[in-house]
Amino acid sequence: MAELHERIYEIALKRAIFVPSNEIYAPTAGFYDYGPVGAAIRRKIIAEWRRVFITNEGNHEVETALILPEIVLKASGHVGHFSDPLVECGKCKKQFRADHLIEAKGKLGTQTMKIEEMGKVIEELKITCPDCGGKLSEAKPFNLMFKTNIGAAEGNPAYARPETAQGIFLIFPRIFRYAGSKLPLGIAQIGKSFRNEISPRQGLIRLREFSQMELEYFFDPEKGKLEKFGKLKGVKVRLYLREAQAEGTEKLLETTAGEALAKGILPNEIFAYYLALTQLFYESMGIPFESLRFRQMREDEMPHYSKANFDIEVRLSYGWQETVGIAYRTDFDLRSHAEMSKKDLSVFLEIEKKKLIPHVIEPSFGLERLFWSILEASYRKEKEREWDWLALPTKIAPYAVAVLPLMKKDGIAEKGQELAEKLRKRGLDVLYDESGSIGKRYARADEIGIPYCVTIDYDTLKLETATVRFRDDGKQERIETGELARYLEKAVEENRTKL
Ligand code: AMP
Repeated sequence: MAELHERIYEIALKRAIFVPSNEIYAPTAGFYDYGPVGAAIRRKIIAEWRRVFITNEGNHEVETALILPEIVLKASGHVGHFSDPLVECGKCKKQFRADHLIEAKGKLGTQTMKIEEMGKVIEELKITCPDCGGKLSEAKPFNLMFKTNIGAAEGNPAYARPETAQGIFLIFPRIFRYAGSKLPLGIAQIGKSFRNEISPRQGLIRLREFSQMELEYFFDPEKGKLEKFGKLKGVKVRLYLREAQAEGTEKLLETTAGEALAKGILPNEIFAYYLALTQLFYESMGIPFESLRFRQMREDEMPHYSKANFDIEVRLSYGWQETVGIAYRTDFDLRSHAEMSKKDLSVFLEIEKKKLIPHVIEPSFGLERLFWSILEASYRKEKEREWDWLALPTKIAPYAVAVLPLMKKDGIAEKGQELAEKLRKRGLDVLYDESGSIGKRYARADEIGIPYCVTIDYDTLKLETATVRFRDDGKQERIETGELARYLEKAVEENRTKL
């Protein structure tokens, strides 16, 4: 079999789950479009994240501007520091990330290397252009933001936002007042972010336009406790600690969120809570415990203001890949914006009679990396079945059910359409498919992860019953059509993330 990711790409293209943008021209690397199936899965992942991280938590959601004036990103540090080291081939002019080329030669520590040093290492290791073998240029910093100008007159530089978080910091004073001038306060945003990556690769993993789901949880640093943490302290997690990384081993500490907090590995209950919630969320998306680890950022990778950083990494066919960052950002962002804007961004807490700049803990999810991780985790192939399929969790499957009339004649198709219509009216996502053999239709439904197929036949006309086929074991059961909507609703509900 082709590599797992190749096979998933084949399915993605064939079933229009996602496709390279501008495909009829030369596709632009780092951009993908979602087709109907991918858009539906994406929408449902978002709905689930919103439920788990925003609504269930009593957090607040905002949607802020995509284009930010330069001053905002100067304050956040993105204008000055948001860059990757770039080298160019003198012969074919292709551009690469210097750190990636160095790491590919097995040398670690690029995070702390000065850019001049990278140039030297490239020479020492005799690294040449991976495409044509040509000599590479000196490494120089390349800012990852897409630049533009606001309005017709020059002189108003602006950028497409490189993360959704900054908009949250800018709107914070308003939301603080709106939400009753109290802490803690969680503000989340789901939306597109833009990074002009030097060499986008691995499909959905490194994109130039991608979606983030970010939560900024504002709190009084003297009150890092969270009552509801009690519910999640027993959640099992695997930690890839600094010491293990420094030893060059893959040794993981299997523990619980509560124990990790007690040992001082995690800074406070809020951090531990969101780490545990992320673990539960990932497992409920069908990604197994064994494919997950939280990597503690090494001291040298941490921004100076940060008090703790853990990335949830997923074991993919590409290797371990960061898909979420959980960061204790202290008061850095609000403080920087206060300085730059000359506005007081501190808050006054009535009850405590206290003025402070809140601290922030941020779980930052990359939607496409999660989407891809789910696809890899749900991929199934068994000898007994001629086709492969996606065992997607019911709650994020593009359709809850496929309605398939066994044949078109004798009113069977009409009966199928009628049932599909009824189910749609109940708010269920239904695929109605009457083309090709029933086997082919099962294969199509399985390949896009539809958990149930309902076959309409002569008995449906007479007895109002239909055959339900289950995607994962291929078993079949006869069910009353009048019961179907409730049956499917229950299946979706039962599959939701349990806390
Ligand atoms: P960061 O702000 O770099 O910590 O990114 C937060 C999250 O956004 C990461 O954990 C990724 O899931 C996602 N992300 C960052 N850069 C990209 C990219 N170029 N393509 C896709 N997802 C990304």
